[in-house]
Amino acid sequence: MGKGLLYVISGPSGAGKGTICKRILEELDIDLSISMTTRKPREGEVDGVNYYFVSREEFQERIEADGFLEYAQVYENFYGTPKQMVMEQLAKGRDVLLEIDTQGALNVKKAYPEGVAIFLLPPSLEELRKRLTGRGTETPEAVELRLSKTLNEISCMTEYDYCVVNDDLDVAVSHVVSIMKAEHFKVSRGVHDLMKRYEEER
Ligand code: 5GP
Repeated sequence: MGKGLLYVISGPSGAGKGTICKRILEELDIDLSISMTTRKPREGEVDGVNYYFVSREEFQERIEADGFLEYAQVYENFYGTPKQMVMEQLAKGRDVLLEIDTQGALNVKKAYPEGVAIFLLPPSLEELRKRLTGRGTETPEAVELRLSKTLNEISCMTEYDYCVVNDDLDVAVSHVVSIMKAEHFKVSRGVHDLMKRYEEER
């Protein structure tokens, strides 16, 4: 059985990552990695569903035990991708999706170059501000902090394999799904097995 593919999706908060990831999970047979964070849960967020919410001490222990595929400090909190689940699923041939920030994505690409990194962009900074304010979950200071981080994140875009602008949600989802499907047909993935099969048949 071939290995599964690892996809990484990132982009400024408010670019629609969460919504697009949810739609991808409905349309494709893929597992979402649940990250660990030291951030407090927002209203409606459930431990083990949205994130594993842990203390700084627990997070630190996992770093020391080499338990993260990657981790990063985002704003004032830590976020990390638990390594074991991702590696087990890939080994089983399952595709895995990570929704992580740009620092994490670049680290994953370094450690795991065959991973596919997709960057999502909001149509404009003005639209991003509107989306962040409309959420109602962030203070005005937090919105400004997130906006200022956006330009930084956008400068990392060239390190990604693909970039999709989320202007219209349905269109953006269909672009991302097409990219993810096409990755399975790359000659650089598994073409040797295919050649062997034809040679054996001869
Ligand atoms: P939020 O606090 O809004 O849920 O997430 C803040 C940022 O952290 C987002 O950009 C999100 O993609 C990122 N993030 C979530 N989980 C992880 C993770 O496991 N690793 C990294 N590096 N970033 C993450």
